[in-house]
Amino acid sequence: MNTKKDPATRIQELKKFGEFGDVNPSISDSATFTFMKAQTMLDTFKGETEGCFLYSRHWNPTNKYLADALAAMEGTEAAWVTASGMGAITSAILQLVNSGDHIVTSRTTYGGTFAFLKNYLPKFNIDVTFVNISDLDAVKAAIRPNTKIIYTESLTNPMLQVSDIPALADIANKNGCKLIVDNTFTPMIILPTDLGAHITVYSLTKFINGKNDCVAGAICGTEEYIASLIDVNDGTAMLLGPVLDPLRSSSILKNLHTLHIRMKQHSANAMFLSKKFKEIGLRVTYPGLPDHPDHELMKKLMHPDFGFGGILSIDMETFERAASLMEKMELEGVGYLAVSLGYFKTLFSNSGKSTSSEVPEETQREMGMSEGLIRFSVGLDHSIENTWEIIKKCLNEI
Ligand code: PLP
Repeated sequence: MNTKKDPATRIQELKKFGEFGDVNPSISDSATFTFMKAQTMLDTFKGETEGCFLYSRHWNPTNKYLADALAAMEGTEAAWVTASGMGAITSAILQLVNSGDHIVTSRTTYGGTFAFLKNYLPKFNIDVTFVNISDLDAVKAAIRPNTKIIYTESLTNPMLQVSDIPALADIANKNGCKLIVDNTFTPMIILPTDLGAHITVYSLTKFINGKNDCVAGAICGTEEYIASLIDVNDGTAMLLGPVLDPLRSSSILKNLHTLHIRMKQHSANAMFLSKKFKEIGLRVTYPGLPDHPDHELMKKLMHPDFGFGGILSIDMETFERAASLMEKMELEGVGYLAVSLGYFKTLFSNSGKSTSSEVPEETQREMGMSEGLIRFSVGLDHSIENTWEIIKKCLNEI
């Protein structure tokens, strides 16, 4: 376990306030910024002025407040915020690869990421090898002289495999490539940078914002890497332009300050439901259960204050049974049949036909994804016992 300060305290200790002493930093509602000297503008274009803002696609003060808070949480030198998680993932990857390069990735990732790696990158002659990320020998065997990135999710979507970040970082370091970790499922619980990852990406849409009122993302890494992303000549983020709107940054920053409390509650509720599902004999996957194949690894990697996370899955064996249970649970008020996750209410969906529908069925079966798999993002319910009674009733009716 890491011995540094916990991520919640790192955020709490940020000593920033607005220009008028506001307890919430002022919102910079401006696309462009003025200069008193023409030379300063020139120097800013070259990235040679500290604290000067040029144009909001490059940097915006409100985005910087959020990015700095995320960098503090992650323990990275810097961060940059994007208009979606996919904006973060695609920019982070494209900044590091050229035509002719190669990437090794976990075969289980969010469906959009899978589709980008599988269908989009080959257009630019970038090769991708998909491996079982828990099989470190397979990861090593997949590395080639032109491999630039090892890509994974800390807790994979939707199979909930735990990535052995220190071991993967070691493979990356020995082979001169970068380890990128998508930590969307486990903010605060897992700190990829403390464990050796070079770059951490997020969909802020999920737990970090927690309100399901916007899509947003972030890239956390070294000063040098973040500066390269916004280089006016060849920075992927600067040139493709997936910047976050500062009004959204401001509201996400406020929500970030309650993340530690929310993660504890999501985790406690998910643990409660996992145990109950198991007690009645359902096949349940949750890294907090001792029979999860990566339970011990997760215990080694996680920050114990925040639990094992809010995501679990159950296997209803067929799509029809899964659909029937989800429809009943929605009608009875357990939560919503909806994609996405990290919301204060419980969300559930059948992964194979929704957030992983980009993954061919044959690959889904190879990775062990049942057609009846229901992924739950467990909400912040005050009485999870009451929620369980409703779920039990729904299960009895299908
Ligand atoms: N990463 C993970 C693990 C996800 O589950 C998702 C979306 O579901 C994304 C990234 C993409 O994020 P966004 O929808 O904000 O672009």
